[in-house]
Amino acid sequence: MTTTTSSNAVDIADLVEVGIEAYHYLYPLVTMDVTRRITTNVPPSAKPGFGPMNAFHHMRAFPDAAFRAVVRPNFDTLYSSAWLDLTSEPMVVSAADADGRYFLLPMLDLSELLPEPTARRIEARGGEVRLRSSATIVAASEDRVDVHSAGATWRAAAAIVAVGPHQLAHALAPGVAGLPGAADALDAVAAMRYEPTATIYLGFRERLRLRARMLRLDDAPGQWLFDRRDVIERAPDAAAARALQGLVAVVISAGGAHDDLDAKALAGRVHTQLKRLRPSFPVPVWSQVIVERRSTFACVPGLRRPATTALGPRLHLAGDYLDPALPATLESAVASGAGAGRAVARVLRHG
Ligand SMILES: Cc1cc2nc3c(=O)[nH]c(=O)nc-3n(C[C@H](O)[C@H](O)[C@H](O)COP(=O)(O)OP(=O)(O)OC[C@H]3O[C@@H](n4cnc5c(N)ncnc54)[C@H](O)[C@@H]3O)c2cc1C
Repeated sequence: MTTTTSSNAVDIADLVEVGIEAYHYLYPLVTMDVTRRITTNVPPSAKPGFGPMNAFHHMRAFPDAAFRAVVRPNFDTLYSSAWLDLTSEPMVVSAADADGRYFLLPMLDLSELLPEPTARRIEARGGEVRLRSSATIVAASEDRVDVHSAGATWRAAAAIVAVGPHQLAHALAPGVAGLPGAADALDAVAAMRYEPTATIYLGFRERLRLRARMLRLDDAPGQWLFDRRDVIERAPDAAAARALQGLVAVVISAGGAHDDLDAKALAGRVHTQLKRLRPSFPVPVWSQVIVERRSTFACVPGLRRPATTALGPRLHLAGDYLDPALPATLESAVASGAGAGRAVARVLRHG
């Protein structure tokens, strides 16, 4: 605890923390914008790969040693880049016939960014991926970890327990839960409280013309609006059965006054909110509210995190609840998973 001399005095520790967070979260945006300005503030065709917004600019030769615009570009790739301004509306990107040449336009969904390529890589190397199987660590020693799943016990060289904090107690059998690190982790997670996330889906008979696929709302009660026409496009029969032409999802992260509303009242409140956004917003003909009660742990002052992520030399924890400096985010989950992976790799390499 740092002391301050008056109620207005600045807490140096807080300032340091704010500085670090600004560097992590704000500085990348600044450097991206500087990059955007540099690469777009050039007339078309004046410099390979550079040019105004909303158009592709091509590099027709591989970058040479003088190329300094991007750190470590691939030397065997003919890049075409476009900075797209989606402020007023989405943009359709169409690609010309590549005439049989190798062509990559990276636009990936989140599963394709990491989990699915990872699963494919594991399987390609002879590993096995078991989905929808609950697992329990039944023993952990200096040289192995026993994992019970789907009626069988697997002897593993090492294991990473990457379950949510509220699921940890069920993932560890009593003998393992008694290990000092595990007991401390279970103690810490037992004190955690959770925040809900509500997603309100509204379906419409008419097609919607929104100015963006994702819109920030006024927080009363919805925070974000997502145009989910992609769901209708992927499931045309289900949409036709309900006579839906338009679908939006409105997301409310964390609890609030809306917690007391039932699904119908909440959907009605969200529709009123959308009419504030645009008075002509049509009346929904279908709605569904999904509330994930334990969406994230409540990141409150003084929250204690597990003291260690190593429950044993071959048994590690991973998850968004472990880093004392980060709230519950994909970032903290990925960082922690990478750390646990490195720890396990060291043990497997060196014994
Ligand atoms: C609706 C919603 C919206 C969110 N939006 C964002 C966002 O915009 N940005 C952001 O950064 N974060 C967001 N988050 C938070 C983010 O999803 C989490 O921080 C992240 O998924 C945590 O990852 P994790 O790997 O620690 O845990 P999880 O993603 O919870 O994964 C744990 C997995 O372990 C499985 N499991 C549990 N017990 C067992 C067992 N015994 N055996 C086998 N498997 C088990 C669970 O089924 C689960 O699949 C959101 C969360 C929700 C719910």
